[in-house]
Amino acid sequence: MKRSPKGFSSKLIHAGGVHDEKGSAVTPIYQTSTFRFVDADQGARRFAGEEEGYIYTRLGNPTIEDLENTVAELEGGHAGLATSSGMAAVNTVYLTLLGNGDHMVGHQALYGPSRGVMEKLYPKFGVQFDFIDATRIEEIEKALRPNTKLLYLETPANPTMGITDIARASELAHARGALVCVDNTFSSPYLQRPLELGADIVLHSMTKFINGHADIVGGIVVAKDPQVHEQLAYVMKNVGCNIDPHQAFLARRGLKTLAIRIERAQENARRVAAFLQDHPKIEWVLYPGLPSHPQYELAQRQMKGPGSMISFEVKGGLQAGKTVMDNVQLAVLAVSLGGVETLIQHPASMTHSKLPAREREEAGITDGLVRISVGIEDAEDIIDDLAQALERV
Ligand SMILES: *Cc1c(COP(=O)(O)O)cnc(C)c1O
Repeated sequence: MKRSPKGFSSKLIHAGGVHDEKGSAVTPIYQTSTFRFVDADQGARRFAGEEEGYIYTRLGNPTIEDLENTVAELEGGHAGLATSSGMAAVNTVYLTLLGNGDHMVGHQALYGPSRGVMEKLYPKFGVQFDFIDATRIEEIEKALRPNTKLLYLETPANPTMGITDIARASELAHARGALVCVDNTFSSPYLQRPLELGADIVLHSMTKFINGHADIVGGIVVAKDPQVHEQLAYVMKNVGCNIDPHQAFLARRGLKTLAIRIERAQENARRVAAFLQDHPKIEWVLYPGLPSHPQYELAQRQMKGPGSMISFEVKGGLQAGKTVMDNVQLAVLAVSLGGVETLIQHPASMTHSKLPAREREEAGITDGLVRISVGIEDAEDIIDDLAQALERV
């Protein structure tokens, strides 16, 4: 085994890694569905788990493993499981930990489908759930039941930027025998490491910051405990929601620049947030880097930095928000986030439109809320673009 370097940025470049016998400096794309055995005995040994090695890509592939090992190391977990999408990662966790008669507690303002799929699909398996305001620790305490198996958090949450105290929430959940999973998509392991704070499982939509270039869809789950990993692996491999080697290669390549991308996007976001906060046409701005954020102190403690996601409300509500979105020229009007380009979208009519209006309102997703994922362009250009679009309001 290669010894891993200590620093986060060095790990981004050198962690994982597969020693390719031809001497390739980066892990090649093993674009193959299956692996040749030298003889029948070797095939038998691999199936019996007596010999390390590959069998079939749904069960394991060197390019995929390189990515899984890297993210597991960055998150401080036992091992990773790369999936075909972020939602495949979410469902791998749900299917592994929840069955008939089990209960889950989730934050009310999750990524839309992470809540939607639980409400729509899982009741038929007999799973019970409560979605609560997990930014309030006493609400978590109230919601935990003897049959609660999973506390599912997203922090900062999409799109309200609400922040949950992962360490305190984990203590409460563990005291009741529940596991804690954190969707760390908004922060990436560079800004926040939930497993170090007490969570049991961390997951990502790699579509966002980990890949960082808006050109693949993928996900990953990392467990702290080997046994939990084995349970998750069984589900992932048998449901068949594995990532493709080529997708994995692109995610691993994108990951190398995570630290410098996030630093730059975050620097831009601080400037954009300050600009928006002072703008006369803006009602409010939600950004963990602003002292006006309700969990500002917690964000300072729990995260290395506030990241590059900002939500804001334009005075004049939905119509005014639409005017901004229809008039931006540099920012791309599109859902998703965490890429090098600035993206702008409207959760109430787009990513969270499937939630009933009342649930949206309860979760703080107002009709006028606009979400921006600040990219790594020049800050002046992003601000100029927003300024000219706001002039039209
Ligand atoms: C995008 C996203 C997901 C889902 O990921 P996909 O790759 O689109 O399936 C889950 N959680 C969060 C926070 C996301 O932003």
